[in-house]
Amino acid sequence: MPGSARVSRIIDLDPFILPLTGLLPSASLDDLEDVRELLAGTHLDYENATLHLAVQSHLVRIGGRTILIDTCVGEDKPRSRRPDWHERRQTGYLSRLAAAGCRPEDIDLVMCTHLHADHVGWNTRLENGRWVPTFPKARYLIGRTELAFWSERAAQPADYPLNHGSLADSVLPVIEAGLADLIDDGAQVAPGVTILPLPGHTPGHAGLEIAEPGQPSLVFSGDALHSPVQVVHPGWSSAFCTDPAMAATSRIALLERAAETDTVLIPAHLRGEGMRISRMGARFRPRFCGCDGR
Ligand SMILES: [Zn+2]
Repeated sequence: MPGSARVSRIIDLDPFILPLTGLLPSASLDDLEDVRELLAGTHLDYENATLHLAVQSHLVRIGGRTILIDTCVGEDKPRSRRPDWHERRQTGYLSRLAAAGCRPEDIDLVMCTHLHADHVGWNTRLENGRWVPTFPKARYLIGRTELAFWSERAAQPADYPLNHGSLADSVLPVIEAGLADLIDDGAQVAPGVTILPLPGHTPGHAGLEIAEPGQPSLVFSGDALHSPVQVVHPGWSSAFCTDPAMAATSRIALLERAAETDTVLIPAHLRGEGMRISRMGARFRPRFCGCDGR
């Protein structure tokens, strides 16, 4: 019997292509030769040495609640240093949400695993020249540690807006509208739904865990790992991690736990639904599966 949670992927941008060593500076293709069959094509282009990711939200319905996890890049946002994110229009994201049976006003909770620009974009949309909350009836769950970190950084002078300006256009308008709840690690946000701290990628980075009796846990793991490449090489942290060593520690602990407990990991950028983790001696391997673990 599957659990009662129903999960849908809402794609914003796919594929999102990055140079392998641009995202993972320690990576080398030679060290990925033995997993070519597992990763080639969907996740890794061996010829061009590029990683293929997705930018997507996960829509979860559980216990009468509708939860949207991570809100991608969004539309109209000025992101001049990343052309594929810059002032996007007619992306079809809200149509894909509608196709999953959900209007913006149906979302009860929006959870941002962290406050990078590719996880908060659809928090707001442009209306008559103002950024307004896209999900008007939702409570937006924002990590207390995470918000404090970026607010402090944003107050310092810089030659280009921090996180592409996403704090100002995608986070503060939600707080000003009174829709944000600051949350702490371990908080239960709905029955069986808890915040799982996974620090390192950013200081307040956290996943969302769904635990139902008799079911393997589902962990929406945000950017604790960006690609299944990091299951095979969990020591490879991203160039965008504020604390790469801590990110690796969080990732390895998550993988160990997933391997021991049959947890289904659902990374924010996975081009696929979910994965279970197997141990092969001292190493890990992903086993791709559905969001419900099957
Ligand atoms: Zn990300």
